[in-house]
Amino acid sequence: MTKSIAPRTRKVRVLATLGPASNTPEMIGALFEAGADAFRVNMSHGDQASKIPVIEAIRSLEKRYGRPTTILADLQGPKLRVGKFADGRVMLEKGAVFILDRDPTPGDASRVELPHREIFEAIQPGARLLLDDGKLVLRVTEHEPARIVTRVEVGGALSNSKGLNVPDVVLPMAALTEKDRSDLAFAVEQGCDWIALSFVQRPEDLAEARRLIGGKAALLAKIEKPSAVTRLEEICEACDGVMVARGDLGVELPPETVPPLQKQIVETARRLGRPVIVATQMLESMITSPSPTRAEVSDVATAVYDGADAIMLSAESAAGAWPVESVAMMNAIADAVERDPAHGDRVHFTVLHPDPTTADALSAAAKEITSTVTAAAIICFTMSGSTARRIARERPGVPILVLTPKHETARRLGLLWGTHAVHTRDVGSFEEMVAKAKRMALRHRLARAGDRVVVCAGVPFGTPGSTNVLHVVQIIGDELKNYEKG
Ligand code: PGA
Ligand code: MN
Repeated sequence: MTKSIAPRTRKVRVLATLGPASNTPEMIGALFEAGADAFRVNMSHGDQASKIPVIEAIRSLEKRYGRPTTILADLQGPKLRVGKFADGRVMLEKGAVFILDRDPTPGDASRVELPHREIFEAIQPGARLLLDDGKLVLRVTEHEPARIVTRVEVGGALSNSKGLNVPDVVLPMAALTEKDRSDLAFAVEQGCDWIALSFVQRPEDLAEARRLIGGKAALLAKIEKPSAVTRLEEICEACDGVMVARGDLGVELPPETVPPLQKQIVETARRLGRPVIVATQMLESMITSPSPTRAEVSDVATAVYDGADAIMLSAESAAGAWPVESVAMMNAIADAVERDPAHGDRVHFTVLHPDPTTADALSAAAKEITSTVTAAAIICFTMSGSTARRIARERPGVPILVLTPKHETARRLGLLWGTHAVHTRDVGSFEEMVAKAKRMALRHRLARAGDRVVVCAGVPFGTPGSTNVLHVVQIIGDELKNYEKG
């Protein structure tokens, strides 16, 4: 039985991370109803078997609500850690010498093991090692094949297996670890729609993941390394979507550099037609409190005004005390911003020019037409979703109803700005296309009798990459009853 909920006309997508606070079918349903459009399954926590019921629970929403669901599997990536200490933790004093070596003997206040060969290969005197989310800073003074001598610049307590960031050098390290390879195969087998790669450093890092995915999922690059920022365009081109991963980005770079980078990454991704997610600490205080700080509300709003495709919750929905409230709050902020009459102009502060392709010419024209003749929606027939992505890139003021015969396409579009994907049989003729466009616009309550809609499709029908038809139709009053039937 399909449960009817009001059509979601919000343009920005809400991506909720699942975890111990939200892994049950009941909570997943509650998050969906509160406004989550897509779910992130974090492979850094929990084993593969524990993800299977979670993925099933997400997919079961499709029958219940008659809407595609979207799953992003996030791979841990090469997360660097220091070794262990004899006493579990040590105090590092500012100015002291501290050594990192290859010796697995438990460490003390003078040394510890660093179990990552690649760092020893690439490190240079003068480079920094950041420990525990950047709370401690070590500066490299000398470097031998199996020993890195550092001076403590910012001291503090350091305990077993704390995280390590090495922002100043490109590490000769693949973006996929053994664990990632196994998790990737698992995610593909489970039919996840998107696979996210952590700590991408270079465009080549994406090639192997691309090959292993074999077209069975879309590939997302998390931008959280300075080296990824310097090659942003190439990285965007090599993937299907990007995440502004502000957590690690703000450890590797001074936090004040993150807002301008966020703008740059969002703009670059939008220009290249790649969906872009703004992530981390968006409503951080809601991990423990039922209401956010005003600064957090403003941060979410800024991402929406910038025209990001999606905004993400991490621990707020995965491990906090208020997961549903966090999603509802994000939804409310996004709604309020999108109701602001200035929203459209602010989104179009980023000026984009069409590529010299038929798809872009039609996409730009479709957007123009919706404002010239005040059409209610753009209806897009697509196989691969590529036309939908080019239309969404134009950021039109009206909803984009995407009709596709492929489940995978409908699901992947859940991270794309302004689109409402519907899985439906393909059409075989122009007349059928027009009739179906009207019928679906009415059924999904994106248009009413008397409205015009703009239809985008490719003839011959069913041929990917053939978008070449733009058609404006008006929905006539008496057609209504017929269309509502079938
Ligand atoms: P993470 O990625 O939550 O997997 O670390 C996001 C970030 O670093 O911001
Ligand atoms: Mn990260």
